[in-house]
Amino acid sequence: MEMKQYIEEAEAALLHTYNRYQIVLDKGDGVNLYDMDGKRYLDFVGGIAVFALGYNNKEYNDALKNQIDKLIHTSNYYYNVPAIEAAKKLKKASGMDRVFFTNSGAEANEGAIKAARKYAFLKDGCNDHEIIALEHSFHGRTMGALAVTGNPKYREPFEPLIGHVKFGQMNDFESIASQVTEKTCAIMLEPVQGEGGLVPATEEFLKKLRALCDEKDILLIFDEVQCGMGRTGVMFAWQRYGVKPDIMTSAKALGCGVPVGAFMMTERVAQSSLTSGDHGTTYGGNPLATAAANKVLEIYERDNIVGHVQETAPYLWEKLDAILQKFDCITEHRGVGFMQGLVFDRPVGPIINKALEKGLLLINAGANIIRFVPPLVITKENIDEMVAILETCVEEEVCI
Ligand SMILES: *Cc1c(COP(=O)(O)O)cnc(C)c1O
Repeated sequence: MEMKQYIEEAEAALLHTYNRYQIVLDKGDGVNLYDMDGKRYLDFVGGIAVFALGYNNKEYNDALKNQIDKLIHTSNYYYNVPAIEAAKKLKKASGMDRVFFTNSGAEANEGAIKAARKYAFLKDGCNDHEIIALEHSFHGRTMGALAVTGNPKYREPFEPLIGHVKFGQMNDFESIASQVTEKTCAIMLEPVQGEGGLVPATEEFLKKLRALCDEKDILLIFDEVQCGMGRTGVMFAWQRYGVKPDIMTSAKALGCGVPVGAFMMTERVAQSSLTSGDHGTTYGGNPLATAAANKVLEIYERDNIVGHVQETAPYLWEKLDAILQKFDCITEHRGVGFMQGLVFDRPVGPIINKALEKGLLLINAGANIIRFVPPLVITKENIDEMVAILETCVEEEVCI
């Protein structure tokens, strides 16, 4: 069947929750993707910050194939070796003490919220605790994760969500401190906002939040689903600031394509929050998913993926800065590591469409921002190729 015909069938069969680009992707290799017609695309999306190691990584693929031939699923009533190995590696990489594997980022955040509520419940026996989250945050599409997502457009049609959530502003400590009450059980945020527009927290902001949480025995939850796993040039973004959370979530690059997420916590929180019977999942932490996470974490450490980000991301920064200088329609360049954005004074959809035509995949973050979240193994040559295409697209589509 032709690509166009497949697209028509997709539109007839799938729920219309996405405005998809009009291509059917067929295979990937390194930082390149190919559609059904064999057209190549340089990929600066990485499946939305997922495919950190690039496509068709032989070692990763072999690890999965081996695991498929051994055992795919056991349920959590039994132990399995890949989950144990992955949990040990994740503890080491994250600085957290205990791990619960989930199937997605949203589910990891659900678990984090439940842990925080249980922690507060055990302290005072009440069940009216509040969470303070941030405007422009994104934590996922399930009812709990949506409740702490600071985008009214995503929330409103589905209300009432879980209640007792308030919103403060990124990098405005007072906007949060002023909303804290004796009912506040957690403050939850992304150390670098992704979907909300590539906005890094300042060190001062996070340090003040940490001190506030310590003083009032409030749990600090970091959602590192997007900014974690090496993307900002450290394994998890909090390590840049030296501000350690009590609970942390991960997903996206953790499985590099196999659905796996995790929420983690310190021993102190683990000792007085979720316990036997409080939480569970059928698939979560199954041998196939954790074999993926285990291999990903092994490759990260052995190949120093974080070092590559530290070395190569400044080059992307320099190149995008030059583009910012060149075009009046671009008003800001921000972000950190391989999580950068260019802010335009107009919707970026037409530029992204143009780039697709020219063999470059890009995504937006909000209507006016192009987000750059490439595979972490991207090279300077790949960056040069991307920048050349992007410049032509901006020239042709909009401004000078
Ligand atoms: C993508 C994302 C999520 C949701 O993850 P899913 O796997 O899509 O459920 C949560 N938080 C952040 C910061 C994300 O970027």
